[in-house]
Amino acid sequence: MKTKKQNADFLHVGEKLLAWYRTHGRDLPFRSTNDPYKIWICEIIFQQTRIEQGLNHYHNFINRFPDVETLANADTEEVLLYWKGLGYYSRALNLHKAAQQIMEDYQGIFPEKYEDILQLKGVGKYTAAAISSICFGAKIPAVDGNFYRVLSRVFADDFDVSNSSAFKYFSELTLRMMPEKHAGHFNEAMMDLGSEICKPRNPKCEICPLNKDCLAFNLGKIQDFPVKSKKVKPQDLELTYYFVQFGHSFLIKQRKEDFIWKKLYEFPVEIPESFSRYLVSMKTVLHKLTHKNLTIYIYKVNLPTKKLLNDFAKEYDFTIENLEGSSKKSFPKPLENYLKIIE
Ligand code: SF4
Repeated sequence: MKTKKQNADFLHVGEKLLAWYRTHGRDLPFRSTNDPYKIWICEIIFQQTRIEQGLNHYHNFINRFPDVETLANADTEEVLLYWKGLGYYSRALNLHKAAQQIMEDYQGIFPEKYEDILQLKGVGKYTAAAISSICFGAKIPAVDGNFYRVLSRVFADDFDVSNSSAFKYFSELTLRMMPEKHAGHFNEAMMDLGSEICKPRNPKCEICPLNKDCLAFNLGKIQDFPVKSKKVKPQDLELTYYFVQFGHSFLIKQRKEDFIWKKLYEFPVEIPESFSRYLVSMKTVLHKLTHKNLTIYIYKVNLPTKKLLNDFAKEYDFTIENLEGSSKKSFPKPLENYLKIIE
């Protein structure tokens, strides 16, 4: 199918969207601020978490770490603790590192330029564009999957969104629609339209402010857009853990900064041969990560003496913990769930 965007009046569509946003935009707590620190935190939290799920975390995080300096000076463990339940903990580690970066490179003052924001740890083009447009008025589109979907449909544009140049393509297309002023509101309007109206399934076209201009809708071809050819096949991975306990005490260790679940706590991944006689149960847990399907086997090992537990901890550098203490530490979701069952 040929691109039909030449038939549309780009700016007119952009203005319509902005007008809709002024009366129908979501009334979210962080919308009332231009503080780049708060916008940054909320953009990172809500990248992979639904607004309703993440709002409490956002408030708690901001209350405990109200500015760059407080976050930079905090203990990593505490930052991870305030992230508990949001998953994708590398986001919290990156926030922490980026706060330290801002203290060192910008004396604690959040950088204003898009290029500088982009250099912060864990900040990609989308987040840098959102911060610089919302807080500093830069005319830069914060293109994400919502933009791909809405624009593909409005212009019945068959550009493949899995193509590596999709970001550039849709950024340029957005720039043609973006009004000279209010770039931040325009970006927020696209986010709201994509998540509330032009949803991946069952878009609410009847109440969409763009329905008169939307080519896919008017051609009755919504299901054809966006075009996505490549599907990334998830990788299957198997992991084994041993929940080694004596009484109410068990063994944990903090992960290093490699692979998945950086800096989170986990159980031993192997045990001495002699411990196999103390295996009492095994639980299989299936867990999905982006592009990974994990099958996790968790074996429960009940040791008969405290000495065995202590010796193992000492030899392999594990910490002896109980349920109360572990609730103040962050674990990967499947292990956290396991601890809840044990409880
Ligand atoms: S009319 Fe429907 S398909 Fe078109 S932009 Fe609106 S919600 Fe999306």
